[in-house]
Amino acid sequence: MNLTESEKMRKDQFFYLPLGGAGEIGMNCYVYGFGEKGKESLIVVDCGVAFPDSETTPGVDLILPNLDWLIQRRDQIKGIFLTHAHEDHIGAVGLFPELSKIPIYARPFTAANVKRKLLDRGGDEEIVHIIDPYPNSITLGPFEISFLPVSHSIPESSGLIIQTNTGKVFHTGDFKLDKTPVLGDPYDPKLWKAACENLDILVCDSTNVSVKAAAKSEKSLKKDLVKLIKAQNGMVVATTFASNLARLKTLADAAILSDRSIVLLGRAMRRMMELALESGIIKNFPNVITPKQALELPRSHVFILSTGSQGERRAASAQLSNGKYQGIVLSEGDTFLFSSKTIPGNEVSVNKIINNLTEKKVNVVESEDGLYHVSGHASRSEITDVHNLLKPRIIIPMHGEARHLRAHQLLAIENGFESILAANGSLIDISKDKASTLAQIESGRVYLDGRILVGANSGVVRDRLRMSFSGHVSINIIVDEDDELLDEVWVQSHGLSKNVVEGSLDVLIEETVLSSLKLLEDETILDDEKLEKVIVRSVRGIVLELINKKPEVTVLINRLVSYV
Ligand SMILES: [Zn+2]
Ligand SMILES: [Zn+2]
Repeated sequence: MNLTESEKMRKDQFFYLPLGGAGEIGMNCYVYGFGEKGKESLIVVDCGVAFPDSETTPGVDLILPNLDWLIQRRDQIKGIFLTHAHEDHIGAVGLFPELSKIPIYARPFTAANVKRKLLDRGGDEEIVHIIDPYPNSITLGPFEISFLPVSHSIPESSGLIIQTNTGKVFHTGDFKLDKTPVLGDPYDPKLWKAACENLDILVCDSTNVSVKAAAKSEKSLKKDLVKLIKAQNGMVVATTFASNLARLKTLADAAILSDRSIVLLGRAMRRMMELALESGIIKNFPNVITPKQALELPRSHVFILSTGSQGERRAASAQLSNGKYQGIVLSEGDTFLFSSKTIPGNEVSVNKIINNLTEKKVNVVESEDGLYHVSGHASRSEITDVHNLLKPRIIIPMHGEARHLRAHQLLAIENGFESILAANGSLIDISKDKASTLAQIESGRVYLDGRILVGANSGVVRDRLRMSFSGHVSINIIVDEDDELLDEVWVQSHGLSKNVVEGSLDVLIEETVLSSLKLLEDETILDDEKLEKVIVRSVRGIVLELINKKPEVTVLINRLVSYV
């Protein structure tokens, strides 16, 4: 039976599924599907990471979205579209081997960044395709997709216009409404309006929905920066994201106007600048000098651009705050400027830098007042402007924690629009007049731990956390050929105080375990599981009694076998 076109359209469903980014700021990954139920063609928008912290994810290298659902359907994926080159949008590219052959589409600067990443990770850079922005478009299966330039804190950021024969979506990506962004594309409402004519669904950045005041333009910063830098007699160090090339340019221009030479400190800073010059994003960055050359100049003529604005332990800012970095030592009379906002979760590390510098009597200038930093995300009033400019049928908040998504939904309703909440894993039908949740897909997190991916619930990090809180005791016992316990036990504890009031902790554990073993019945000695349980209980009991800790315990039972 041949289906008529309208019957087929009715059978086709168009859905939106966030797998990361809708419930946290980080690890953005969104899926759009179109087609017959179960056989939909899929496109993926962004594939980012979140960053671990020492408290909840010790030792973890990166946090990735759980893409099991997507991996099971990898044959249905037409392409991965990357909106911009921030790590929360491209950081996971090349880390899922099952997705390594899927074509990637991006604008040139994002493509250059992601190619480097693929090269570092042993991937194939041939899968990356460069796409020109709107009105250019690409058709993949049932989707027609355009990159719409938006302003943000990294060049060539884009939203995506995703058109199918049942509806049109504008997925904003990260954006602000900056008409003079110094570098990158200015906000162009006419272009937005033309590209988003008859818009059905607006999937919209929610990061700054709670920020009331409209964000200032990047261009407005230079005047205040010049004023600040000119007023200093010592060395001035400024830190920001290395990828915020517009800010690097603004800071460098302000330094030159203040008669200072510029030093780039930190690998990411130099690498990003290379990429920007290679790709022509920056055409006239002032000359830079080496740290060694800077040491020969009067301090009042030196301006340093440093990595590590988020307190990263190994980055230049943290090392400067600890003492010396590439020969440069900060001291009384120098100034350290944070031309950045501290991302929630990084406060402890950033405060540590501030305190270290303050102890050295360095003048620390923070940017929370907006004088020396503007956000890359639209504020509440600007989000409202976008709602009203584009007049979509339905608004779906994305890129935010639960509280941001909810606040954005309420704002959309207040502005007179329909809005639906979509958390990670919510599969939302967007083919009909009203959007509705069709299913809840298993989503969550995966950790890059060393070289392998481990599930957030696999217990690896839980074990690590337990050991870090309570220490660890290894215990070794031997059962001889006649199933008799040998009268000897070896104990080795880690992460616990070795000496307690009563003597050596390890010896005291050995004695306790030995005496509890003496009371065991044969049935227990013959059964590994039972034996282990008794020993663990005995170790925990004595350690709890002695030092009030409940350590993790590993029991090694060696059974000697007779071959005679
Ligand atoms: Zn971004
Ligand atoms: Zn982002």
